[in-house]
Amino acid sequence: MTILIDMDDVLVNTTEAWVAHLNALFGTHVEYETLGSFDVSLPFAPHTREEVYATQSHEEFWRSSEPLPGAVEAVTRLKEKGHRLFVVSNSQYVALQVKMEELLFRYFPCFTWKDVILTACKQMVRGDVLIDDAPHNLIGGEYEKLLFTAPHNRKLDAAAMGFTRVNNWAETLVWLEEHGKD
Ligand SMILES: [Mg+2]
Repeated sequence: MTILIDMDDVLVNTTEAWVAHLNALFGTHVEYETLGSFDVSLPFAPHTREEVYATQSHEEFWRSSEPLPGAVEAVTRLKEKGHRLFVVSNSQYVALQVKMEELLFRYFPCFTWKDVILTACKQMVRGDVLIDDAPHNLIGGEYEKLLFTAPHNRKLDAAAMGFTRVNNWAETLVWLEEHGKD
C-alpha cells in the first residue's frame, strides 16, 4: 500500500507543544485538551491570529515537539511490512529546515526529504490511504480517509463525513491490517 501520513498532530505533538510555547510566551493557561477549533489562536484572544501564527517561525517550539505515542514504532513496522510511506504536510516554509531535520528526521530516521510531500492541497496526492487530523484534508481525496483524533476534531461525526476515526497509532495499525491491501 501507499500510505500518506500527515505530520502535525499525527506523527508529532505539534499543537500540544505549540500551546505550551504560547502559554510560556503570553503568560496564559490554555489547555491543549480543551481546544475546540482547528484555529489555535481563538483561546489566546486578545492576541491576534497573526500574532499567534507568527510564532510558528520560532525554532525552539519545533525543537520542543516530539513524536506522539506509538508513532515511531508504527512507522517502523509499516516500513518493515513493505508499505510505501509518504509524509504529506502543509508545513509553512518558516522554520521548515529545523522542523524537518530536528524533529521529523531526528525521531523518524527512516524518512528523508525524498519521503516528504509539501502541499496545501493533499487531494492532489495519490495514495491508498491518508491519515490526518484535519477534516479539510480528507474531504474529496481519492484515498481511504482515516481521521486521527485530536481535541479540535473530537466532536465531529467522522462516519457521517465518510471518514474512519482512529484514536491513536494502535488503532491505526489495526485498521491498516484489517483493511489494507498487500
Ligand atoms: Mg495535522
